Amino acid sequence: MKESTFYLLVYTWIAIAIFVFPVIIRIVAPYGRHSSKKWGAVIDNRLGWILMELPALLVFACFFLFGTGNRPAVTWIFFSLWLLHYLNRTLVFPFRLRTKGKKMPLAIVLMGNGFNFMNGFINGYFLGTLATPDQYPLGYFLDMRFIAGILIFFAGMFINWQADTILIHLRKPGETGYVIPQKGFFRFVSCPNHFGEILEWTGFAVMTWSLPGLSFAVWTVVNLLPRALHHHKWYKATFPDYPAERKAVFPFFL
Ligand code: NDP
Repeated sequence: MKESTFYLLVYTWIAIAIFVFPVIIRIVAPYGRHSSKKWGAVIDNRLGWILMELPALLVFACFFLFGTGNRPAVTWIFFSLWLLHYLNRTLVFPFRLRTKGKKMPLAIVLMGNGFNFMNGFINGYFLGTLATPDQYPLGYFLDMRFIAGILIFFAGMFINWQADTILIHLRKPGETGYVIPQKGFFRFVSCPNHFGEILEWTGFAVMTWSLPGLSFAVWTVVNLLPRALHHHKWYKATFPDYPAERKAVFPFFL
């Protein structure tokens, strides 16, 4: 693929994210607490998660490993961080969920698949084929963009993993109900899992300092900000004693 064609694709991908944001914010994604039978065929929740996330792992890894570029040293760090996140999200997280008997619409799995395929391709192709040693020389390890980006990434990963763990342990094995989470960053926001994930991919965008990285950060906000706002509204409507000072996703702000 010509480099100019690739970048046109990435700009279009970012434009689509901005265009669909006002739509996504009006539609409550029908899985988990918002699950709905109106969205057609459903599959097992755990299997749904694995199938939905698998392209992010496989497509990204294939395009990186079989790319025709130089793959400068720092790109292997980007590759490893991506793998660390998606090995957890695809092959560990679904088996930790206490989600017995729950279903997910197939439509959500297919939409998630589409997103993960495109996102995996864009970032894998960029790092495996287009990234050059001029862009990422050995000294890039000491570059402020790399240092700041990796710190933001790990702060986000810590918040995301801690929040996932707190949520999972709110239920005893076999339970399926909901309670108000009180620990960790839940003291500040209703959805620290989403806040952490937004931080992670913002950090990735900063450390790669690339348009593909930026496109992932933009899409993460577009996917997760509406979900966090819907969760927050649901908590306030469901629990009369829900902490009034708690924000939805960004501490002290929103
Ligand atoms: P949720 O917070 O909706 O659910 C996470 C798990 O915790 C589910 O098993 C849920 O059960 C359970 N749970 C949530 N709240 C409570 C509660 N109050 N009491 C008891 N159990 C609860 O997370 P998401 O499904 O939205 O996301 C899961 C992970 O995937 C997050 O880390 C998120 O950042 C990531 N993600 C990333 C996306 C991206 O674009 N990068 C897109 C979507 C998710 P149940 O399923 O029964 O509701």
